[in-house]
Amino acid sequence: MPVRLLAALFAAVAFLPALSVLPAHADTPELPDRIAAAWKTDHVSVDERLRPTMPASELARIRAAVKSAGFPVYVALVPQSPYLSKGGYDLPTLLHARVGVPGVYVIATVSERTWSVGGTLYRPAGLRGRDLYSVKAQDPQRLKVVYDRPAPLIVRTIQQAATAYDDRPLPAVPATDLRPDSAERGLSVTDKADRATFIGMGAGGFVGLVLTLVLGLRRRRGTVKREKSVAARPVDVRDVQLRADQKIQAAEGALARLDRRAKKSTQQLDRRDDAYRRLDAARTLRADQPEDLLACAGALVLARQAERVASGAALQPPCFFDPTHNPGTAKVGWSDDVEVPACQQCASIVARGNTPRGLRVPTKAGLFGHDTKQVPYWTLDPEDSPMVATGFGALSDDLPEQVVASRKDEVR
Ligand SMILES: [Zn+2]
Repeated sequence: MPVRLLAALFAAVAFLPALSVLPAHADTPELPDRIAAAWKTDHVSVDERLRPTMPASELARIRAAVKSAGFPVYVALVPQSPYLSKGGYDLPTLLHARVGVPGVYVIATVSERTWSVGGTLYRPAGLRGRDLYSVKAQDPQRLKVVYDRPAPLIVRTIQQAATAYDDRPLPAVPATDLRPDSAERGLSVTDKADRATFIGMGAGGFVGLVLTLVLGLRRRRGTVKREKSVAARPVDVRDVQLRADQKIQAAEGALARLDRRAKKSTQQLDRRDDAYRRLDAARTLRADQPEDLLACAGALVLARQAERVASGAALQPPCFFDPTHNPGTAKVGWSDDVEVPACQQCASIVARGNTPRGLRVPTKAGLFGHDTKQVPYWTLDPEDSPMVATGFGALSDDLPEQVVASRKDEVR
């Protein structure tokens, strides 16, 4: 028996390296070659791993949208993978380089049952038109489209590209493509009203403050009664993903507009650099940890800041208690000598002597299913996450640098 057990163990161990290498190999840089080759015969390329489960009705809708666009449309449907999440933003560029035809290149990726779709429009030389990003950003229905099947988002992206291409009106999304609950979702919690300036805290010397603060927060947590009225409903990670991706696109649009200016002042150049720094960190977080709530919320905060900075608006810190809230335009005393930025709602909760519910995340034990306890993110170990360490940039405005630094740590 022990011999058999040992043999089984050995076999398992021997198999491990092969398994861990497999996903990377399955996609490798040949993926663009495979897609470009498939497009020679069919402008809708479905990865072979998806073919067995892809409904014919979805493909028929996508093909109809491709045919009726009136300009070249290339669509690729692929499973999400480490290769794609690392290099996914370059895929349209790589594909356009291989195909060489102007048009819209649409990449649809699926993870579990959630589709996300990106499109890049390459115009024939000299032809001017609207920016696809700005069409997307101004589409009021963009966040209401269902994402549990591929056609609705792909068709919408092609329609947006058509509007960008020759300014034709954007049709309404059919009711069957809209999320039933979308009426109360979307932009209910936005930053539209807040115009107050960022109460700057320098980047240096924050570790001490952060540690004191985290200790203070932990102490205080036990002694303060919770606000019951704002209770219970956990944040849906998919909502935060959508809002982050939408903000990333808005920031890309704002940066593209800034880039197009012929003569930029020194101040505009500085703003451009700062916005790119934040946007790059936001993309990194989305690409490296697509399913992680802290990373998605961090990306949302950074992209929102990048958009503001690129458009010439004042930088705003997030609400310390929940970065998915409106920006932290109020300052509240948290412990004896620490003030944190907070949204108006959280500020009024603190003013009443209570603790805002805060952004909640599963404890580590909860990740393995033994314990589904949700805790405020600020009670986690700051060493484990740049988002916790900086309060999503509310405690120290160096989240982009910390994201880059923590990534280097992981690579090492
Ligand atoms: Zn808040």
